[in-house]
Amino acid sequence: MDFTVSEKMQTITQMINEFVDKELIPMEPALLTRSFKELRPELEEKRQMVRQMELWAPNHPTEYGGMGLNLKEHALVSECLGRTPLGHYVFGCQAPDAGNIEILHMFGTEEQKEKWLRPLVEGQIRSCFSMTEVELPGSNPVMMDTTAVKDGDDYVINGQKWYTSSADGARFAIVMAVTDPAASPYQRASMIIVPTDTPGFNQVRNIPVMGEAGDDYFGHGEILYQNCRVPQANRLGPEGSGFAIAQERLGPGRIHHCMRWIGICNRCFDLMCARAVTRPIAPGETLAAKQIIQAWIAECAADIQAARLMVLYAADRIDKVGAKAARNEISMIKYVVANTMMKVIDRALQVHGGLGMTDDTIIAWYYRHERASRIYDGADEVHKVAVAKRILRQYESRRVK
Ligand SMILES: Cc1cc2nc3c(=O)[nH]c(=O)nc-3n(C[C@H](O)[C@H](O)[C@H](O)COP(=O)(O)OP(=O)(O)OC[C@H]3O[C@@H](n4cnc5c(N)ncnc54)[C@H](O)[C@@H]3O)c2cc1C
Repeated sequence: MDFTVSEKMQTITQMINEFVDKELIPMEPALLTRSFKELRPELEEKRQMVRQMELWAPNHPTEYGGMGLNLKEHALVSECLGRTPLGHYVFGCQAPDAGNIEILHMFGTEEQKEKWLRPLVEGQIRSCFSMTEVELPGSNPVMMDTTAVKDGDDYVINGQKWYTSSADGARFAIVMAVTDPAASPYQRASMIIVPTDTPGFNQVRNIPVMGEAGDDYFGHGEILYQNCRVPQANRLGPEGSGFAIAQERLGPGRIHHCMRWIGICNRCFDLMCARAVTRPIAPGETLAAKQIIQAWIAECAADIQAARLMVLYAADRIDKVGAKAARNEISMIKYVVANTMMKVIDRALQVHGGLGMTDDTIIAWYYRHERASRIYDGADEVHKVAVAKRILRQYESRRVK
């Protein structure tokens, strides 16, 4: 595997790192004390600067106004942007829009692309993805109660979803609903585009998560679909293809997620080391002199490097053999990187002592918000079971001496 970073990517990552340091990290105190809605005008100015630098929507298709970077190139970008919670939003490559853009690009009709994909890539609107239900396990989404029943040229949708991230202020949702209850489990559901101003699309609340209900892009919506009527032309892909499309949404997207987490690791690691060398702990001595702190720093440095190389390897495998054949690697990075990140955030917080618990640094924000990484996008345990099953299957027909 070749780890050489092209000149183009060296220039791009340097520009992004400088922008993050100069324009976005100084905005973080405002993020910690004000609502996202209040910050939006300032964030829009930053987005405009990114457009002028021609760094807007790095991973999205050029024909819709993105930069068209490939998987490995955007992985490096995602790492730089992960160094601040504002990075991906300001550069127009934030979840869940990024995943929605990918599937609209792959499966949307020309009409759907013009109406929804183009303004989404341009950053004029936002979207959300509505799959997980309150009463049924998100880990086994074939168990789904939300239905979309045909009526004339329309679907009528009924169901209760939650964790529809960023629903607050979104222009449309891509909703997963059962369209054929009699079909085999993986062909029962379809994805349907639902404009959020459709009667019957009712946002009940932004769910309080770790003490914060959040708002706008940083909210997680609970949505009641009550006789919500949309044209059948809003279905994405063929009827019954919901789970097949959901799979497409997860593979390459995981590389970007994991590299964002590596960016978080890098930021917390920097803060931890900077604190260690400046915090006096005894006359003439800083925390950095303590062996236990040194051990944490050495372990975190190695863990981050190992996790980062695993992600780059998974990206390389996707390029060489495709996402299906690389599914073990894609699953492994999910739980390895999420746990590495939690460990690094926790250690960084601990080194900061009482300061780490406050909102005077970004560490506590990451601690609250990133715990979810072990749950969304497939809980750790689901990926571990899947990886173990595939490994063990090989041993059923293999003799080991
Ligand atoms: C911050 C955040 C944002 C999210 N954003 C979105 C979004 O935008 N759109 C959306 O549709 N959903 C979203 N989700 C929902 C997320 O996808 C689900 O929470 C996740 O799939 C787990 O489903 P569940 O919460 O129903 O847990 P359950 O399925 O009830 O699982 C609970 C626990 O059981 C264990 N478990 C589950 N299955 C197995 C198994 N096979 N073997 C062993 N143990 C198992 C795991 O420890 C798991 O954490 C988000 C969640 C969070 C926390």
